[in-house]
Amino acid sequence: MANGNNDQCPICSGRVDVLTTPFTRYNYERVSRFTCPRCGVFDIFEQDVSRLSGQIGRISQDKPWVRALLSYWIRKAQSAGEPPLFQRNLIDQIVSEQRLPTAHEQADNLIRYLGEQLRTKIREGKPVSFLTNSYRLSVVLIVQESGT
Ligand SMILES: [Zn+2]
Repeated sequence: MANGNNDQCPICSGRVDVLTTPFTRYNYERVSRFTCPRCGVFDIFEQDVSRLSGQIGRISQDKPWVRALLSYWIRKAQSAGEPPLFQRNLIDQIVSEQRLPTAHEQADNLIRYLGEQLRTKIREGKPVSFLTNSYRLSVVLIVQESGT
């Protein structure tokens, strides 16, 4: 697998950047580090990537919500420190929970996400507009890309 190319995310099947290299954290085993706009940053042992991707594909044919559930789980596991390691034995465990976030948790997650986006854009020196509507949960984050 080439480094830095655009590949398909094994979890949400969206476009993703992948870096495959031996990591000291995993005793120099080769690991693919995925950076997905939806799922975030996570690791999978290189030897597991295609089997794991196939397993998720098969499960999602009967249960279309599985990709959203796994994506939510992996995003939640990134709260601090190193990216989480996603392994095949996690799939059954996560799927058996069958629980996507409640509306309240989704609102909390949205606020957390917007905060992270704002922090990143401000750090990059990009102009940001932030609009809210106090009657309903309606938040718009506008990031103006400079020079494009
Ligand atoms: Zn993804």
